Amino acid sequence: MSRQLRVAVVGAGPAGIYAADILTKTDLPPSVESVTVDLIERDPTPFGLIRYGVAPDHPRIKEIVKALKRVLSNPDIRFFGNVSYGDDLKLDDLQQFYDAVIFATGARGDRDLDITGIDLKGSFGAADFVSWYDGHPDVERDWPFEPDATSVAVLGVGNVGLDVARILAKTAQELLVTEIPDNVADGLRRNATTDVHVFARRGPAQVKFTPMELRELNHSPNIDVIVHPEGFELDEGSMDAIHASKSVKLVVDVLQNYVAKEPSGAAHRIHIHFCQSPVEVLGEDGRVVGLRTEVTELDGTGNVRGTGELVDWPVQAVYRAIGYYSDNLAGLPFDLAAGVVPNDGGRVIDIDGSALPGAYVTGWIKRGPVGLIGHTKSDAAQTVELLLSDLDNLPAPAQPEREAVDTYLAGRGLDVTTWEGWEKLDAHERSLGESHEHARERVKVVPRDEMVQIARS
Ligand code: NAP
Repeated sequence: MSRQLRVAVVGAGPAGIYAADILTKTDLPPSVESVTVDLIERDPTPFGLIRYGVAPDHPRIKEIVKALKRVLSNPDIRFFGNVSYGDDLKLDDLQQFYDAVIFATGARGDRDLDITGIDLKGSFGAADFVSWYDGHPDVERDWPFEPDATSVAVLGVGNVGLDVARILAKTAQELLVTEIPDNVADGLRRNATTDVHVFARRGPAQVKFTPMELRELNHSPNIDVIVHPEGFELDEGSMDAIHASKSVKLVVDVLQNYVAKEPSGAAHRIHIHFCQSPVEVLGEDGRVVGLRTEVTELDGTGNVRGTGELVDWPVQAVYRAIGYYSDNLAGLPFDLAAGVVPNDGGRVIDIDGSALPGAYVTGWIKRGPVGLIGHTKSDAAQTVELLLSDLDNLPAPAQPEREAVDTYLAGRGLDVTTWEGWEKLDAHERSLGESHEHARERVKVVPRDEMVQIARS
């Protein structure tokens, strides 16, 4: 007898939406007549890190939303926003309604950096700053910019480090044309930063920047990009990396061009320093007053060793952009070191080494917080393939009817937001943008209760 397959996807960012899309488009085994998917999302809105992770001055990346919208318009895929996995429901609850659950919860926290002074006032995680400037409802509305914080440090040379450095170095005026909410625009007007010092603990061939993002750093007339020659070393390991990857070669080329370029005298500067490993955030009266780094040297393998030479940098704030870290999900095993749910190609593996029946992962919670948005597609395809191959061994849910979920969520008194609700909020934000003095594509609504109220109106 053929069955109607019911799948819950927890997390409605790109990873979850791609998984839903692939599930509803893939050739189903003969035992399955059709498949329907419900996306369960903690935010009242879909799109995860596209809405709350991509920098506001990167509208090109946000264009991906257009393709994701087409997926969510499929009637076989439903969106349940403002529902928090772990608080509002857990795996056991979901398994009453679904044959399988795919977790696509991504990573939104900051990886810890265990150095002295990291908890001082003025020391921040990049993920928190990104959530703030992207108007996430669950972070404080006011960012604590200090009037004397003119020099700041950014630790880590990935694209998040670039985003943070660029947003700190741009003027509020430049960002006013983007979708930033009013509280963020007000905050940025108080940002006194003139010099952002970005620190790489390794060399130029080991940075994680992508070429386009590095090149556009120079596009603001208010910013000079200054790549310091000290530590700009290319050893044998670096040359191997350059020969092996076009992207590494391009990045090193761009960096070399920056080294050679004369500063134009712009009011703000982004400095990039190589072979400087952070060892301590320096404080006075509980506040950041500097950063201490150890000079490193390349060891020929792509890694570095410390030289013992210490350098103190007078900075008044430190942002660590050393990688995201996923939330530990209720009812699932978690690999604390890697920050992922242990899995085999997407099948969740329990602490005893056996597969946890009906539980799957995709995206950053599956393979860690690296890779661009498009990479989550191949991830999702692999997870879906495994899920479909497991079907005969999955227990059928007790309440497979679609409405059973609606009844359950309503019974829990949750203010669930739907796809139609998102369309209302989307229209509202666009109208705020149109009527704004700076005529913008949209202005984001920030408070969760206001978003929910508009979506449910
Ligand atoms: P990332 O690319 O992994 O970069 C993390 C950086 O932190 C690396 O340079 C790493 O250096 C450094 N780091 C780690 N531990 C450190 C420590 N203890 N001390 C000093 N430095 C340390 O991570 P990400 O920047 O968070 O980006 C995550 C993913 O999102 C990436 O794939 C990125 O491309 C993507 N993304 C893309 C965009 C875009 O505009 N296209 C924007 C944002 C993010 P080591 O290499 O030496 O470990």
